[in-house]
Amino acid sequence: MQEVQTINTKLVSNQTELLATIKELVLEHYDASGAKYVFVPHATYKALVQQTLVDERSCVGSRICTFDEWVCDRWELFGDGRVLVTQITRHLLLYEVVLNRLGSKATTGMIAILEKLIDQAYNYLLEHAHDEDVVAVLSGEQQEILDCLWDYQKALSELNLCEKSEALTLLVKTAPTPALVIHVGSGQSSYVRKSFLEALAEKTRVYDVVNICDGVSAHPERNQELTCLLNHIFKPCDAPLEPHGALQFLLPMGKYATPALLSGAISDAVVKSRSKDVGCMRVARDCPQVCVSMKNPQDLFANIASVLLDQGITVQLSDTVAFADTALGQALESLVELFYGKDQIAVAVPTDFILSSFSDISPAQAHELNAKWRLDRTVTVDRICEDIKSSSSFAERVITCLEQADWDGLFDALDERIRQLASFDDAWLTLQQKSLMHARTFVEACRTLHKQPEDYWELLSLRKISRTIQTKLPGTSHQDTADVIFTTLERVSQSAECCYSCVIIGDLTAHQYPVRSREDSADTLLEVFGVAQAQMALQEAREVFFQALASARDTVMLERVLFDEASDEAYPAVMFEEVVDCYRMSDAFDAAINKQTGLPCALDEVVHIQPEDQIYKQADLFINQNTDAASARSVQSQDSWALPSTKVPTSQAIDLVVLPRVRLEGCTSTQDTLPRLSASALENYLECPYKWFASSRLSLGSLDAGFGPVEMGTFSHALLKEFYEVFRGEGYERVTPDNLSEAQKLLSDLFEKRLVGEYEKSAYETPLIARTEIERIELLELKKRLCVSLERQSRLLPGFTPRHFEYSFGMNEDVEVKYAGCILRGSIDRIDINDAGQAVVIDYKSSIKTSHQLGVCSEVWQACGVVLPNKIQSLVYAQIARKYLGLDVVGALYLSLGNVKKDADSLAGAFDHIALGSTDLLGLSADKAAVPGKAATDYGVQSFTELLDHVEAGIEKAVQSMLRGEISPQLRSKHEGVCMYCPVKSCELRDQR
Ligand code: SF4
Repeated sequence: MQEVQTINTKLVSNQTELLATIKELVLEHYDASGAKYVFVPHATYKALVQQTLVDERSCVGSRICTFDEWVCDRWELFGDGRVLVTQITRHLLLYEVVLNRLGSKATTGMIAILEKLIDQAYNYLLEHAHDEDVVAVLSGEQQEILDCLWDYQKALSELNLCEKSEALTLLVKTAPTPALVIHVGSGQSSYVRKSFLEALAEKTRVYDVVNICDGVSAHPERNQELTCLLNHIFKPCDAPLEPHGALQFLLPMGKYATPALLSGAISDAVVKSRSKDVGCMRVARDCPQVCVSMKNPQDLFANIASVLLDQGITVQLSDTVAFADTALGQALESLVELFYGKDQIAVAVPTDFILSSFSDISPAQAHELNAKWRLDRTVTVDRICEDIKSSSSFAERVITCLEQADWDGLFDALDERIRQLASFDDAWLTLQQKSLMHARTFVEACRTLHKQPEDYWELLSLRKISRTIQTKLPGTSHQDTADVIFTTLERVSQSAECCYSCVIIGDLTAHQYPVRSREDSADTLLEVFGVAQAQMALQEAREVFFQALASARDTVMLERVLFDEASDEAYPAVMFEEVVDCYRMSDAFDAAINKQTGLPCALDEVVHIQPEDQIYKQADLFINQNTDAASARSVQSQDSWALPSTKVPTSQAIDLVVLPRVRLEGCTSTQDTLPRLSASALENYLECPYKWFASSRLSLGSLDAGFGPVEMGTFSHALLKEFYEVFRGEGYERVTPDNLSEAQKLLSDLFEKRLVGEYEKSAYETPLIARTEIERIELLELKKRLCVSLERQSRLLPGFTPRHFEYSFGMNEDVEVKYAGCILRGSIDRIDINDAGQAVVIDYKSSIKTSHQLGVCSEVWQACGVVLPNKIQSLVYAQIARKYLGLDVVGALYLSLGNVKKDADSLAGAFDHIALGSTDLLGLSADKAAVPGKAATDYGVQSFTELLDHVEAGIEKAVQSMLRGEISPQLRSKHEGVCMYCPVKSCELRDQR
């Protein structure tokens, strides 16, 4: 009777043993006739096994490949005519299947679950889906998932496609039986793979070689301390290891200190590795000397690669990037959005395309087009296409292809364009070519399945593309081995033992490396079928970490932040703790622990802490040191300047950051050097100097034309001006309860007429253009609000008549209005005057808040601590009306044009209590607004005119601060709205509110 063979499992402790075992097995079966295969888990292992077997003539004939490579190769020769489904086709089919069956549940998460099930046990699940014991315990959702799998199988067979797991089942029967199969296990094998190997084991010799990572060989190049560490880690030990410097700890206090600390450590490690003897260098001649693993290596590269290059250290980044994050992906996505975007409100402006190198449009022209489109709410796809076409012949070709849905033509054009960009960095060009290839494959797959690519673009966007970027020194090439590699921990774990002089493992916090089982709906379903893999999260994490440590020969550095972004304590990752445990006495007292680092005091010598408050000094160091090397950078130099640690500009910078007119050459008179400001700029500056700087000087506001308070305010102001002028032209002095209905009708007519005219306005006149039904409803609401306001205005200030509307001052260079040490310009919404010559200044507001009340005040540090009202605009206008129009101003009011419950809530500001009373002002309480009175107590003034002078004097002090360049963020009062409407999003004070 023939003996039934099974898989022969061999457990090895480390990579060296693993390679030796493979070699031994191959030699052992040297005489066996037939093919011999070594299945490796990834490409790096392929090279390692090849190197191991290369010198052995007896090993000739052994083929080393990944499992997937073997399946594809054999299926081509011994398949049944069906084609193996590609990953992108699988994605498309699964998406379609889930969409048809589950509708809105067609998410990337659901597709990932189905893919996991297919990879783990596709055939088995379908074969046993109707088993009674299974059906009895399946939940409704699990049944839905299985139904999707059935639909998927049906779709595959209609297209004459098959899954790898189906191919494996057939190949066991149809492909020639190999003489030997050695399977190098990586983590847990899926049910599909296990059952294939078991089926094969019945016919031939199958060995499963598993590296359990429980000890290292005595590699002659490895530092003794590291060898001891690798032999002790994850095991109970009697005596702690002694630190000798081969293991170091990098502890930045927070994430902003990480780049500075790492760059110093990397720089030291490179210098050290360069000074090593040639013998050591020989071991790793084809790979970088220092390897740094981070959760996001791209971030670290962006932060410190150029700093290291200044020191003559080259860096390679090796990771993956989503298609959507490549330059080509972004450019294509913006075009797809333009042509097929589902946004009902706005046309998607293809900024990423026009600004990219693929458009052949100059950056200046691209920015102009971008600003033009974004400022125009009436822009259409056709107009954008015409603009692009007339900007460059290449862009015209691209747009024409898209108009004709000619994807092949589009990709050919882009291919040509990439070739024209030969002066670009090789790595960048390679990445764009890869992206283009992915796009072509995707569109081809869509075409095969009769799908429209634009409907599934998200699937392409999420696809990961491997990339390698490298900095280079002048006179060197990208082919030269870099000094340092930045990559992920998983990739480091795939490296050869002792291949790096130094390995730095970063981001070792529990947050970044949580050790927990990743059980999901797919695992639960696999469990129902009895084919689930055991969850061994800790074991898997340990194996990855162990192999990463084993790739170092001289030094290992472990980095973790002590505090997270919220300044809360950050907890170390389990692996970090397991290393520390090797140096810890099991009965250590608190005294033996360093309170700051949480590490045994014995490790103090090998711990490096980087406080965050020193990062600015570090930045200065980066700028100042090695300037010769900096000037010799191979990368294009950028305009840069040293950033001070506060937002107070240097004396040289004041002219740049404060006001263009101040200190201009040739200015002789004081007046020439006075700043030109508006009342709202002054108010902004008093609220927070940095907000003023950002919004008025840097103009950090939104680029897009909006449909909000600014547009509605501009529209309402102009409408009310026109209304009063026409109404008075019709013979009415003012709106009264008697003529209210006529007034409201006129306002309503003018409203509609003006709306039509809005389309003729330039973008800089902030037109009010509704694009959606919701916006059109908002317009109706606005009209209603203005009519209601008119009713209130008919009862406001009886005896007064509106005389000036949108009264502009300071706009004309000849008539300069001086106020508080500046040249003021602006426009007063309305001035009402009575027969006695008394005047009230009115400022329209879309809404009135508590801060508009006179009594709401605070000290202004930039005005030397003078107490001023929180809102000063109407008081500034009142002073202008008094001084320049010679009016006897008795009120400075804010009138709300918005919805308010009570009449009194529609007004705020200040009034002269001698001239006016609450009855004149819709019931506005004297306590809140009268001068003299309770509301004015904090200003120490006795009359309305004294108040105006007091405010001007205070503002003058603030203007002096402005001229000294005081622009640091200082929030004088924390009332709602100050920070809310500030464009500075990363302000440290914002979080303190
Ligand atoms: S966020 Fe607030 S504190 Fe910061 S600059 Fe803006 S207004 Fe000033």
